[in-house]
Formats: sequence, C-alpha cells, structure tokens
Amino acid sequence: MFDVAVVGGGPSGSMCATVLSEKGYRVALFEEHQSPGFPMQCGGLISEDCLKILKKYVDADKFLLNRIDGAYFFSPSGKHVKLKGKSKAVVIDRKIVDLELFKLAASTSKTFVKKRVRSVSFDEKFVIDAGEKFESSYIIGADGPHSVVAKCLSFNRPEFLSAIQVECEFESLDEGYVELYFGYSDCMFAYSIPCGDGFSRIGVVSKNNAIFWLKKLLREHPSVSKRVEFEKNCELNCGTIPFGLIDFVKGKALLIGDSAGMVKPYTGGGMYYLSVAVELLAKHFPNLEEFKRKYLNSLRVEYEVGKRIFRLYGELSKEDYDYLVKIAEKIDFSSFHMDKPSSILNAIPHALNLLKRPSLTLKIVKCLLS
Ligand SMILES: Cc1cc2nc3c(=O)[nH]c(=O)nc-3n(C[C@H](O)[C@H](O)[C@H](O)COP(=O)(O)OP(=O)(O)OC[C@H]3O[C@@H](n4cnc5c(N)ncnc54)[C@H](O)[C@@H]3O)c2cc1C
Repeated sequence: MFDVAVVGGGPSGSMCATVLSEKGYRVALFEEHQSPGFPMQCGGLISEDCLKILKKYVDADKFLLNRIDGAYFFSPSGKHVKLKGKSKAVVIDRKIVDLELFKLAASTSKTFVKKRVRSVSFDEKFVIDAGEKFESSYIIGADGPHSVVAKCLSFNRPEFLSAIQVECEFESLDEGYVELYFGYSDCMFAYSIPCGDGFSRIGVVSKNNAIFWLKKLLREHPSVSKRVEFEKNCELNCGTIPFGLIDFVKGKALLIGDSAGMVKPYTGGGMYYLSVAVELLAKHFPNLEEFKRKYLNSLRVEYEVGKRIFRLYGELSKEDYDYLVKIAEKIDFSSFHMDKPSSILNAIPHALNLLKRPSLTLKIVKCLLS
C-alpha cells in the first residue's frame, strides 16, 4: 500500500513524485514507456521564471539550449515587427529535462517503467490496475491530455487542440528571437523557436488540421518558405494540447499538468503552469482543497485572460494584423510577461489611443475587456 500513486512520468508526474517523497510519503510512480520524454512533444520555450523552478530539480547546464530576448510578430501577409521582451525566455531540451526529472523521482520514490495504468477504481482506497494491482490512499493523474485517471474517476475533460512541429535547419532572422506567424492556424498562430546551431522548431497549433497549416506555412509563407531547409535533418513531432483548466481535485484524487488542462490558453505552453502547481502541491499536500484554492488564486485570472486573447486571434482579419504589426512598436509592452497574459491589459489603454480603426478597437474591447 502506497500513500500516493502518481500516474505518468512526464514533468508533472516526476516533479510531484519527488516533492512528495521528499516530504516522507511513500510514493509509487507509473510510466508506460521505458523512459519518459520520447517522443518529444514540446517546443521547449519557457520563461526564466519557469527555468528558476526547473533548476531546483535539474542542473540547467544539462538542458539549456538557447536564450530568447523577444519575438518577431508576422502578419499573414508577411509584414513583421521585432519586439524585445522585458521578461526573458529560454529554450530547453525537453528530452533531457524529462529524463533527469524522472531519474530524480526514481531516486526517492518507487518507480515502475513500462507499466501502463489501465484503470483506477476507488473503494476506501485507490486500486490501480497496471497489469498487476497496486493500492494507494491518494492518486495523482499526471498522465497527459488523454488521462486514464481522469476517465476512470469521471473528471471533466478539457477541449483539445492538436500541435505539430518540425525541428530542422532554419535561417532565423535572429537566433535570440522566436518568430510568431499569424494567419497560419485556424485558431492560434504558427511559430519558430531557435534552438541553436542553425536549427529551429517550427510548429503550428490547430483545432482541426495541424498538418495542413504546417505544410502551408513551410511552402507558402512569404518569409518562412524562403528560409527553411525542410528536407534536411528533420525531426517531426505531434501531440495534443489541452485547452481550458478543468476542476482538478476530487476527494483524494488530483489531476496535474496536461491531464488537468494546466496550459496557457493563448500559447499552448504548459511547463510554467504545471511547475507552479507542483510548487503549491508540495506546500499544501495532503490538503488538496487548499492546494486547489491557492492554485486558482494565483492563476485563475491568467487562464481567463489567456482565453480572451485566444478568442481575439479568431476575430482579427488579415488587415487588422497588418495594421497591428505597423503600430506595435509605438505600444508600450514593457510590463508584458509571457506567463501572465493579464499583464497585457496594462498596454491596452495606450494601444487603444493609438488605434485609428473603430472596428478593430471594438474587437479588442469586446474580447479583452468586456
Ligand atoms: C508540439 C508541442 C509543443 C509544445 N511546446 C511547448 C513549449 O514550447 N513550452 C511549454 O511550456 N509547453 C509546450 N508544450 C506543452 C508541454 O509539452 C506540456 O504542457 C507538458 O509536456 C505537460 O507535461 P505533463 O507531465 O503534464 O504531461 P506529459 O508530458 O504528456 O507526460 C505524461 C506522461 O504520462 C505517461 N502516461 C500516459 N498515460 C499513462 C498511463 N496510462 N500509464 C502510465 N503512464 C502514462 C506518458 O508516457 C508521459 O510520460 C507543447 C506541446 C506540444 C504538443
């Protein structure tokens, strides 16, 4: 009998297993693959705040690939603007991060690899069927967007988006800047993240057909198509991005990370929001209701504003994007933080004063402020 069973050895699961076993709980960690982190489903772009948390677990020299100072924003027609961020970001090697986090978890908790959890039931204690049966007092579903724990224990499910990404040779405009391409996704944007040595991760998040949008980006984008070496040394990854935080605590069961929809709704990035969850869990376990309250206190507004920005992407026309790119340099984004989309609200009053297009003003006000 374990105190806690953690299902899934990705970053959420490994970090949870580590912090809880360090607090003296008997923890079992189940991972369905021989080793987590393969295939890699991540662009590896995280903020310096997120890096700070990861560094508590793993030496950053092992996984740091590049530093990012800002972003180029491309309108659908290819017009672009370069904006330097106040908060910085880094690009990490997720394969190494996942592996190192898992090794750390294995040093303090009982880990089971190649053990797919098939079902979970509850009758005073949790019974975990992973080929053989295990029992625990608490269970944590850290088993990604298609969580078995969530299904078996009847948690609500988030919506899903799909993402596809190639890592290939690419002539970045600046190796210290990511590039975001609007108009090349049916719901969000496409991106390239320079990971050093002339390579970038170029990807798309989509509602319905990520592969269609990626092909369009690589073949037709006025700037990307001229700079990509798609045929050479290319690695292709795809995955699911959950959209929308669900109620992630039920009695002594908890979902964390992608299984709970702990992902920024306006970018699809999940590493920071799951890391914050683990930090708070470490503080409040076994009081799961308190953990939930603290998590929502710190990030509820960010989920809400993130959803509003997501909605705005779909409202803007090609002309709106062209216009925004034209005036962006005049807007003061200095307080914007990539993990805290509510920080963009500080720039809105000034931006609205600059806008000379009533229909665009209306869309921004309707989506972000009303
Ligand atoms: C293409 C793409 C690009 C992305 N880029 C970024 C980015 O740049 N920055 C960022 O912050 N985020 C990014 N994300 C999101 C980020 O990768 C996820 O938020 C993060 O991986 C979530 O971690 P997790 O531990 O919750 O889930 P996962 O990483 O999905 O880990 C779940 C683990 O559970 C295991 N598992 C699943 N089911 C079972 C089972 N039944 N039994 C046992 N084990 C099981 C899996 O094998 C896996 O190891 C990206 C996602 C995609 C798809």
